Amino acid sequence: MKQTHSFQTEIKQLLHLMIHSLYSDKEIFLRELVSNAADAVDKLRFEALNNNALLDNDGEFKITVTADKDARTVTISDNGIGMNEAEIVEHLGTIAKSGTKAFLENLTGDAKKDAYLIGQFGVGFYSSFIVADEVTVESRRAGLAENEAVKWSSQGDGEFTVEKITKNQRGTTVTLHLKAEQDEFLSDWTLRRIVKTYSDHISVPIYMKKAPDYDDDGNVIHTDELEVVNRAQALWTLPKNEISDEQYQEFYKHISHNFDEPAAWTHFKVEGRQEYSGLLYIPTRAPFDLYERNPKHGVKLYVKRVFIMDDAEKLMPLYLRFVRGVIDSGDLPLNVSREILQQSKDLDAIRQGSVKKVLALLEDLQKNQPEKYAEFWKRFGSTLKEGIGEDFANKERIAKLCRFATSQSGSEEQTVTLPEYVARMQDGQDKIYYITADNYAAAKHSPHLEIFAKKGIEVLLLTDRVDEWVVGNLDEFDGKKVVSVAKGALDLGETASEEEKAQQKQAEENGKPAIERIKTVLGEKVAEVRATARLTESPACLVVAENQMSRHLTQMLEAAGAGERLPDDKPILEINPEHRLIQQIAAENNEERRTDLIELVFDQAVLAEGGKIDNPAVFVKRLNRLLAEKA
Ligand code: ADP
Ligand code: MG
Repeated sequence: MKQTHSFQTEIKQLLHLMIHSLYSDKEIFLRELVSNAADAVDKLRFEALNNNALLDNDGEFKITVTADKDARTVTISDNGIGMNEAEIVEHLGTIAKSGTKAFLENLTGDAKKDAYLIGQFGVGFYSSFIVADEVTVESRRAGLAENEAVKWSSQGDGEFTVEKITKNQRGTTVTLHLKAEQDEFLSDWTLRRIVKTYSDHISVPIYMKKAPDYDDDGNVIHTDELEVVNRAQALWTLPKNEISDEQYQEFYKHISHNFDEPAAWTHFKVEGRQEYSGLLYIPTRAPFDLYERNPKHGVKLYVKRVFIMDDAEKLMPLYLRFVRGVIDSGDLPLNVSREILQQSKDLDAIRQGSVKKVLALLEDLQKNQPEKYAEFWKRFGSTLKEGIGEDFANKERIAKLCRFATSQSGSEEQTVTLPEYVARMQDGQDKIYYITADNYAAAKHSPHLEIFAKKGIEVLLLTDRVDEWVVGNLDEFDGKKVVSVAKGALDLGETASEEEKAQQKQAEENGKPAIERIKTVLGEKVAEVRATARLTESPACLVVAENQMSRHLTQMLEAAGAGERLPDDKPILEINPEHRLIQQIAAENNEERRTDLIELVFDQAVLAEGGKIDNPAVFVKRLNRLLAEKA
């Protein structure tokens, strides 16, 4: 009995889009289908480890790709895991891949840009409909009987049908009924060229029609014989000098399930106490799920060339979750489970070794291909930075890979490394200074930077969400303390001249009358009011004590709804005694006006650092009162 199903809405949208925007890349359908066939073989090989009966005495895996000129079809068939009825409905129609939604939300409507986006996302099975107006999939799951097979069929128009059939071999056969103008794919020669270009690295043998022979008179001898057209060896097991860049790139597309180019890769073999090899890639663009808790399709684990699992978390630390590739262990048991892996010391050693390879790859990129590294940093910098807190052993190495915007770099772009910063430090400067803020403009114009600008001391401007966590875990770099310009008392170390120290003393003295008055008005709102030399233009700013959470972090946590659980730390108000407003406060005898001035100075200091003031309406009233007076 035939049942009709509707594609999930997102899949419908995807189908429509793919058919219309990927027209110029249409041959990718073959890569996608061969890739699925290879995945299906990997899955069966794995399941058969614990249940050999699934193989049913046929352990010779293969994929075949053939064309039928009369029927105008192209057929891709495999003897892999297959799908049962529920699986075929789910995988080919009703459950969209994770990220589909995010992907659709990112679309621009510009066909060219969107095709580019699809490339990042990976097109998969549905790319069949770029060249076919009808697709049938016949599948029998390993372990099921002949008459428990299913047939899926669709014209890509929003619906598909599913019915029970009989199939004498396990696995999946996908048949594409080509659209009228797609005859080129009926040519064996064309098909062979495409498979060789895209799928040579597939480790399962791919059988195709033998190229025709000619007899002595030049007549074609037709043959229906099949031959293996690919190398059929796991790519990472081959020596590097036998692998071309194109092959490395194609393999990346296969394992990452997308089709943009990788930015860089590292291919290694480790021998000794642990034996393993790996082929790891840095993508060019960020995957859609980079910021999700459980990103999919990370680094795949193989044991002695048998695919075991996708397991980004255990093979790569979270901060390297953008890395794609495979790691193949020679030592782990084949029947290793996720539970065993959780505690495996062997896997820990493999991970540590692999992380070092990735860091070395990034160092190499930074040194030898700075432009590429800059691109990498834009996409993945804020993710890599997490490593400073996550990976204690490699903290210094990761810190050296980081880049920052600074008060002197002149743009929002993150380009300055810590070693560069250190090399530019002023005579007598013994600390690395930073400020955290919501955005570049807020950081750059913060009152806290005034004295640093005056003295030409560079300050890191940190505006990524993760930066608070980064500086929280980076106490020092290269023996220099890393300190916030908005915490504790201003300490310019040896860069302060005798004259400046005297000025600070004088400021403290001059500030006294204003300070007393401010304290009386602000009362509990502040922990302290004191004079500072850090301001040259602004009347006041807020700082916190050295050991307290930064104001910016407090604001972030409050915005995230965690306000109630925060310590009730009060800020310190620092004033600039040289500023006219502060002098006015000291001189103003009208109490109401003085209170207005003091409250305004305080609220302004809150606003200047991107904070929220308690009562904006009152703030506006006070401001207007004073402005009206002046007018
Ligand atoms: P992806 O391969 O990225 O998961 P696809 O759209 O290519 O996405 O395929 C969707 C799903 O359909 C696969 O994850 C798999 O479960 C199933 N599938 C596709 N082709 C086959 C096949 N030849 N054998 C078994 N399952 C398949
Ligand atoms: Mg696929």
